[in-house]
Amino acid sequence: MSNSSLVNHVRRSPNYSGRNGKRIDRITIHHMAGNLSVESCGNVFAPSSRQASSNYGIDSAGRIGLYVDEGNRSWCSSSRANDERAVTIEVADNKIGNGWGSSVEAMSKLVLLCVDICRRNGIHRLIYTGNTNGNLTLHKWFASTDCPGAYLESQMPKIAEEVNKLLSSGEKAYVWGVGEKKEEVTCVNATVQGNSGEDCMRLELKDAGDGYFYVRDKVHGLYLDVSGAASKDGTNVQFYKGNKTDAQKWKLIWKNFKNAKYLMLSPKCAPGKYLSVENNGVGGKNNLKLWSDLNNSKQKFFVREETDGYTLLIHAFTFKCVSAKE
Ligand SMILES: [Zn+2]
Repeated sequence: MSNSSLVNHVRRSPNYSGRNGKRIDRITIHHMAGNLSVESCGNVFAPSSRQASSNYGIDSAGRIGLYVDEGNRSWCSSSRANDERAVTIEVADNKIGNGWGSSVEAMSKLVLLCVDICRRNGIHRLIYTGNTNGNLTLHKWFASTDCPGAYLESQMPKIAEEVNKLLSSGEKAYVWGVGEKKEEVTCVNATVQGNSGEDCMRLELKDAGDGYFYVRDKVHGLYLDVSGAASKDGTNVQFYKGNKTDAQKWKLIWKNFKNAKYLMLSPKCAPGKYLSVENNGVGGKNNLKLWSDLNNSKQKFFVREETDGYTLLIHAFTFKCVSAKE
């Protein structure tokens, strides 16, 4: 059994067993939970006291380390049955925690290494099913761990797709994410969400010049917009591409209560209706809706200016933020 010719660094780990006669028919992608070079990763697997290893590692520069020959079982996925049949790959994180992330260089090399492993081991297609029925498996299915982390896990279908494209085209060069067309988003539902600090909650209040304001979200650049028959209670409010209609113009009505200042928002297309939150922002869906004046805090918002110039509109009843997010 051969190893990949893509390897840049070899540091054999003492932590391995034989494959017990099993054929390689799967790949397991892990993350390092750190931004280690292939040398540092090799150092981690070097002491026998560590009792852990992988076949390969890929660092953020896109270099590949070999730690356990493909002919042997690495001690990587907390499952003897999986590792007897898998080639295991540790991928560096260039973003630590909070969803994690891996560099374009690492992702590109990961795809190329998977293609190479498939070719040499007679794996015709890499199939990710989200469970152990496929031949692209995850550590978290065998042990209480979040490995490979949210980012890599979310990319598994794409990794399999890209590997399969290269397997059938025979193409040797590959760069992750090149040539992808981002689909233009023109409409996103408007909700209130717990304050996570995400950009979907950052809003720009733009003076429309006629006594009204546009409310534009930072992520998509879409405008707070009243859909359909605006005059009815319960009409949905969304973020929609800018069209300068009265459905996107909001009167900012300031209310004082003791020392606090609140905002009510009323659309130009439906005077007497106010921005309101489905289920009062408490249980279930918290879509933004229009409603007649309820004269209570459920239609009022605090305004918080953020240091980057954007504004949070914070629902006075629940403290959730107006968001361009389902
Ligand atoms: Zn793992």
